[in-house]
Amino acid sequence: MQACMASGWSFSAPVLVTLLVCLGVILLAHWVTRQRDFPGRDSFILLHLASLWWMGAAALEMSFFAADCKMFWASMAWPGIVATPTFWAVFLWQYVNSMRAPLARSSILGLSLVPLLVWGLALSNPWHGLFYGAGSAPVDASLGAPVRYEHGPLFYATAVYVYLFMAFCMGVVTRAAALSQGLHRRHYLAFVLVTAVPWVANIGYVGFGWTLFGFDPTPFSFAFTLIAFSWLIVGVRLFDLLPVARHLLLEALLDPVLVIDPRGRVIEANPAALKLAGLQSGWQGTELGQWPVFGADLQQLLQEHNGPEQDLPLTLTSAARYYEVRVRAIQRATRHGPTLLGHMLYIRDVTQRHLSELKLAEALALSEERLRTISSLHEQLREQALCDPLTGLYNRRYLDEFFERELARAQRENLPLALALIDLDHFKRLNDECGHLVGDDVLKAVAQHLLDNLRSTDAVFRIGGEEFLLILPGADPREASERLQSICAQLATRDVATRGGDQRVTLSAGLAHWPEQGQALDELLQAADAALYQAKRDGRNRVCGQLPGADLSHPSRQAALRGDSG
Ligand code: GH3
Ligand code: MG
Ligand code: MG
Repeated sequence: MQACMASGWSFSAPVLVTLLVCLGVILLAHWVTRQRDFPGRDSFILLHLASLWWMGAAALEMSFFAADCKMFWASMAWPGIVATPTFWAVFLWQYVNSMRAPLARSSILGLSLVPLLVWGLALSNPWHGLFYGAGSAPVDASLGAPVRYEHGPLFYATAVYVYLFMAFCMGVVTRAAALSQGLHRRHYLAFVLVTAVPWVANIGYVGFGWTLFGFDPTPFSFAFTLIAFSWLIVGVRLFDLLPVARHLLLEALLDPVLVIDPRGRVIEANPAALKLAGLQSGWQGTELGQWPVFGADLQQLLQEHNGPEQDLPLTLTSAARYYEVRVRAIQRATRHGPTLLGHMLYIRDVTQRHLSELKLAEALALSEERLRTISSLHEQLREQALCDPLTGLYNRRYLDEFFERELARAQRENLPLALALIDLDHFKRLNDECGHLVGDDVLKAVAQHLLDNLRSTDAVFRIGGEEFLLILPGADPREASERLQSICAQLATRDVATRGGDQRVTLSAGLAHWPEQGQALDELLQAADAALYQAKRDGRNRVCGQLPGADLSHPSRQAALRGDSG
């Protein structure tokens, strides 16, 4: 410092150039402070402050004439020299990863430790000589000639530290360029170029002794990076446009979005997500499980999630609203395959859809219920239409349908079919003597008697007041006749319970056979009717209509079937 008091100084052209670059850097740093959505904004400002310090010290080193004073300002430049690549590295890392969270104070302090230590070591060089050697001296005897430094071990150790950051910077932007495409790739390639310039200058100076105006060319190379960045920012606007556009999109999205790091912490949440969670600040780094709304559910979802993208049918409910969650893995392609960087949780508000679905399901259930009622009513109606209300037997309406089916079956299977027309004997008299209601009771009892004697394939119809029709599929004339004789005989020997006391009733029956006596129902009914008439005429309580050779109508045979003795 004392050496500088005594030293003369002048504003040479290089000093002016350096000061102009400083001014440019100040303007750029000022512009950056006003950019809201700028990834790595803080480190970008710190980077410019560091380089400003470096160039300021370089300008002073150039201005003063005395070698001791020049060496003092060279030492003063070191915190800027070391901090520049440090914050450059942090900035590039944040920029390519679109990190907008402000840099923590502790991180800034931590990153400043080595620059400050190096500063102390450089300033204390006169005592230990480990930074600049004793051979450091002006290049010639002219006034204000630049100093050629003899570098000591501490200088090289510092250089290695700086180069580590430089290598990291190059790695970050090269990787970003390699992994991106199109416009983004060109953007990152421009970054690679801009980043390379100061490093080429520095390596040239340290390794090959390149100088500019007799000085380290590195700070001057910032003039180039300044122009390049200004062009990228103001001219192309790629520097901030795409990340800003993406960020704005996320901000404008009405659906909540969360970004989760591989350790399960929330590192990004858009305004919709913060609104849903009722949070404003201090949420960065919250464990997903602790997130105020859906935290535990989302954490479980993430644990179950596998594969790059999954739409999960998980429906979450909060404050009468319904949400559906889509999980997307954020991956980066590497040589060894994809590396998981985290997950994006896209929480869609599906309240409207959900409510419509509920309403639809309700309406569907209602119409299904109605349909069931209609079907059952329909079934009842059909039953009522086809059945006789008094006896519960089928009525005439069902006869055609049933006969047609059975006839087709008989034709197909080449089986016989018999019809029996039944009429109760002297029923009018019973009505007259005992009353119509007793007559009804008798009709019901006879219907039950007929049903009791049916086989599963048979059917019985009430086709008139006290007239019934039996259809016996598969029954040949002999079998039909035997079964009818048995029905007739059993009815004649039993008491029929009615409201007017026990009654005795007999029936007469006429048989007809398919195919012998006709093909159509009418023909067969006519034949059966004729046989019935014959039975009435022969004295009632009997079965007529056997085919020749199956004559069971002989009175002795009938008596045997009825179980009459004598
Ligand atoms: P036949 O031995 O010759 O058959 O003599 P019948 O008295 O039975 O003569 P007919 O067949 O002509 O008489 C039928 C009677 O059946 C007439 C009617 O009063 C009675 N009837 C018809 N339908 C019903 C009914 O639903 N309930 C009752 N109780 N009687 C009925
Ligand atoms: Mg009759
Ligand atoms: Mg009768």
